[in-house]
Parts: sequence; C-alpha cells; structure tokens
Amino acid sequence: MDIIHLLPDSVANQIAAGEVIQRPASCLKELVENSLDAGATRIQVIVRDAGRTLLQVIDNGIGMSEMDARLAFERHATSKIREAQDLFTLRTMGFRGEALPSICAVSQVEMMTRRAEDETGTLIEIHGSDVVRQEPCSCPVGTNIKVSNLFFNVPVRRKFLKTDQTELRNLLTEFYHIVLVYPKVNFTFVHNDEILLELPAGTEKQRIEAVFGNPKRNAFTSAFVDVHTETELVSIRGFVIKPENATRKAEQYFFVNGRYMRHPYFQKAVMTAYSGMLTADYQPSFFIYFDISPESIDVNIHPTKTEIKFADEQAIFQILMAAVREALGKFTLAPTIDFDTRGAIDIPMPATDRVSRPQVAVDPTYNPFHTRGTIYPDKAPKSWESLYEAPQSSRNIDIPVSRNIDIPEFRDAEMPLWQYNGKYILLPGEEGLTMIHQHRAHVTVLYHRFLDQMAHAQGASQQLLFPEVISLSPDEMVLVGQIAEELRTIGFELEQLSPDSYSIQGVPSQIAAQSPVPVLQQILSCVRERGADTRAEWREQIALSLAQSAAIPVGKSLNEKEMRELVSSLMQIPTHRITPDGKTVLSLLSNEEIEKKF
Ligand code: ADP
Ligand code: MG
Repeated sequence: MDIIHLLPDSVANQIAAGEVIQRPASCLKELVENSLDAGATRIQVIVRDAGRTLLQVIDNGIGMSEMDARLAFERHATSKIREAQDLFTLRTMGFRGEALPSICAVSQVEMMTRRAEDETGTLIEIHGSDVVRQEPCSCPVGTNIKVSNLFFNVPVRRKFLKTDQTELRNLLTEFYHIVLVYPKVNFTFVHNDEILLELPAGTEKQRIEAVFGNPKRNAFTSAFVDVHTETELVSIRGFVIKPENATRKAEQYFFVNGRYMRHPYFQKAVMTAYSGMLTADYQPSFFIYFDISPESIDVNIHPTKTEIKFADEQAIFQILMAAVREALGKFTLAPTIDFDTRGAIDIPMPATDRVSRPQVAVDPTYNPFHTRGTIYPDKAPKSWESLYEAPQSSRNIDIPVSRNIDIPEFRDAEMPLWQYNGKYILLPGEEGLTMIHQHRAHVTVLYHRFLDQMAHAQGASQQLLFPEVISLSPDEMVLVGQIAEELRTIGFELEQLSPDSYSIQGVPSQIAAQSPVPVLQQILSCVRERGADTRAEWREQIALSLAQSAAIPVGKSLNEKEMRELVSSLMQIPTHRITPDGKTVLSLLSNEEIEKKF
C-alpha cells in the first residue's frame, strides 16, 4: 500500500499558519504590509479584544479584481514575484504568498475589495479555508479585510495567547515598526472603539514625534541630532539622542530598506559611539534607517524573523559608529580629541576611505575624585560614572564572587567607619579595608524590603497633597493597567483620568520626598525594558526601579549612625555583595594589596 499522500490545502495552510501567524500581532503585520504593498496612503486598523475577536485593516490601495480576490487566498499565490530571480531585487514587504492562506486557515475572514477601474467590488467570506460566500458588493476603492475569532479552530494556539494587555502591547510594537518607516502614509489605530493612535502623513521626524511625543511635554525629537552618511556600501540616516537626554527607557530602532530589523551587533556600534558619554544604566534612543542594495542583505528571511544578515557587517559597523560619533561630536562644545589615540576600539577599521574620522568629546574639567559633600544635582555629570563601570556586556555575567568578604568584625558596634568621597563607606578589618558603595548598598537593602512589602501587600502609602498627572503613551497605558495590582501593593494610588493619563494620588512613603512622575516613568521603562512578563518579574522590576529611585544618592554625606544602620541592614541580606542587577556593592582591599603598595 502506498503511504505517501498529499496534504489537503486546508491542513497545509494550518501548518504554515503555525509559522507565519503566531499571534494577533503577526496577523496585523501581514495585513498592514499587504496594504502598503498595494500602495495605500491611508490605512486604518481596528482591533477588538487585542485582536482575539477582531482585527480589521481598511486601506485605499489598488484593490483586487474578482479573480484575484479569490486567488489571494490560495497558497503561494502572489502578485509580487514571478521567478526565483526576483527574490534578489525585492523591495516589497511580502513575497511568499503565504500570509492570506495562513490567516484564513485559522480564522473567519471577510474581505471587500475594489479596483478603481471596476464598478462593483467583490465580497468574499472564508471560514477556516472554506469559501462560504463570494458575491459582488459596493465598496470604496481599496481593500477592507476583517479577521474574526483568530485561532477559533486551533485551541492550543488560543490558549497560548497572553493577556489582552500583553497582546495589545505586541500589536502596538508591531505597528510602531511599520509606521516609523512609512511616514507618508496616514495611519489610525483603534482598539475597542478608542482611538489609540492617529498619525497624519509627514516626515520621519514628525512621525517619530507623533508616536512617542506627548503634546503636553517638550518635543520628543528636540532631544535628538541628525545622523547622516553616504558610502558606496550603505547610506545611513536617522536620529540619535543627545547624551544628556538619555534615559533608562530607550527607544531603539533600526530599519533597513523600509523594514524594521533587530541587529544586536549594530546596536553595539551605536553604544560604542556613546562610550564614556552615558551614565551607567542610561541607554541612548535612536532611529536609524539604512539603505543598502538588496543584493548585499539576505532577503529570504523567515517572515516572522526580524534579524537580517548583511554581507559586510564589520564595515557597516565602522561606518555606523563613525557616523553616530560624528553626529554626537557636532553639537558638543567641549574640545574634541582624536578617539583613535585612546585605543579604545579593537575592531579593525575596514578599507573604506569614506569613513569619516571619529571624534569624541571629553570634559577637560572632569575629576571623578572631586567631592562635593552634598547631593549631586540630579543631572550631574553623567559621562564619568560609566567610565568606572564594567563594560556593558560583562556586567551581568561577571559577578564577583571569588572573594569571600563577610565583614564578621562589623558585629562590633565600636568598629570605626568613614565615608569616603561622598560615595563609599570604608571599614577597616582584620583582612584589610572593605569599601562599600553607599548607593548600591542601599539599593540592595531597599530592593529586598520592597519585594517583601509587595509579597505581603503592606507597602506604606503616602497621600499626595496635590495629586500629579502623568501622561502616557498607548503602550505605557496598557502596561500600567497590567501592573496596577503590583503598583497598588507597594503604595501607589492611581486613578485613570483620560485615555492617556493617570492622576497619582498616593506614593510609596519611601519616595514621598521625590517627584512621583519620573519615579513612575522609571518603573514603567524598567518593566518594559527587561521584558518582564509574569507577576513575579513585575515585582522584581518594580522593586528594583523603586529602590534605585529611593536609595541614598552618591554624593550624599552620611553620619555615623546612618552608615552603621546601612551596613548592618546590608549584612542581613545573604546576597549582599552584588546589587539585584549584578553590580558590585562591596570590595576588599586586602592587607597584602596594601602592603604591596609600599
Ligand atoms: P504576499 O503578500 O506574500 O504576496 P499574501 O498572501 O499576503 O501574499 O497576499 C497574496 C496576494 O493578495 C498579494 O500578492 C496581493 O496581490 C493580494 N493582496 C493581499 N492584500 C491586498 C491588499 N490589501 N490590497 C491589494 N491586494 C492585496
Ligand atoms: Mg503579504
């Protein structure tokens, strides 16, 4: 008996759908990309229940003929390539002809479409790959496609979906990736009848502003400088944030030939360009657009992957780094030195003479051992601290555990201790001199305290006399909703004011002296950046972020009692040698090392 048989299309499509359509966000991406490929200048996205119930995309593109409307749902039906050769000169988004058949295999699709030259349009309805209706209809030029009840016939997938808030965030992230490269297209995004984004056509900068800016704050994009470079290999343009405007929450975007990409290696190039200019933990935001001949990138990528392979990565690394550095150098008034002489970069320069000479700004007045006695201003020299941090990549891995420093002698309350440089607590002991970083020590202590309070829901809240308003972007609004319970247990009292703002009425008592808006912003970016997705992870990120905000800063002078209290609380924590995010809290200068110096 023959045992090989062809799979029915409906089954093959469901299998393909497993790859192409993993969640509502991937479905949205495919639909919007189709609209863009169809030349639409106006695209409306309408979503219900984070895409579970409905995902609808309405465009004013070229539409489809009656025949094409039917064909579009066949496997490997595409108007975009005819021969394998075409794959190498690809400029359109989709090309495999897999999206629509995959989508209709796992949902109920209703599509209305009309070309300008046709008087009537076509309505087609498909349930799990079966065409249940096809008839002429009257509709505007363009395509209106409605995807209902995604994964209605794949319960495993449906169960696999995260909460509505997480899926909505995924949808918005995917949407951002697209709208940032199509500033000339007008987009709207509606969720459960609420307009979350309304993006008029404009320049790239205006688009970035429309997505991330807040009309009530300073222009988001005014914190950026332009990057621009043209080489034979690649042309690069975009915007990078001025170092002094960097925050812990960064928006980092790369695009290549009109497509979002993740590229950790190029991200490193940007980070290298900023080296020495950012305080530890601060990340630069950037929006960088590459244009490169399609032959030098691997286009036959998996439809859901965002990593892209370049033929000449090392050369582009150098070009990118030089371009960013040049952009950053342009607006700095401080004298510049030739970066090459510092020998900080160990990546060989490529043989391209069009790379501009990198320059970096240094602050000649900088002195890391300068003491000020009191608290540094909030935005104190950001550049220097990072010089004393472990390199980014090794920070989390290289946890110093080799030396056992337990300071047992500290139990003796009579031991002398001193504060050094407004930053360290010095403790002489039998083995040598222990140095404790006061801010990190306090972060570690507070972190455990906050975690504990959240676990027991006993965070102490302090009412604000004058509630403050925090304005948030759509994805931040979603996030606040998600972690609302955690925020409440630690002492925040929030009340939603409008679709894009909350009023802060109470705060954890430990931060009562601070301005609550930046603290809350910080928490949100911390949770978002670390990709926390479970309650336990949210708590950890909230505790960490809050601890960082509330901990005594570097530069604050401490009296003896305060120092003793801090050190003894620190010693009660078993993991007191490193902060929750892996930084060194204390270090021993051994007697031997001291002896060697003389
Ligand atoms: P691909 O985009 O890879 O070609 P799809 O399955 O996404 O494959 O779409 C199949 C075909 O249907 C496209 O090649 C295009 O001709 C047509 N199509 C899909 N969406 C639209 C749209 N919004 N407007 C016009 N044509 C469309
Ligand atoms: Mg497509």
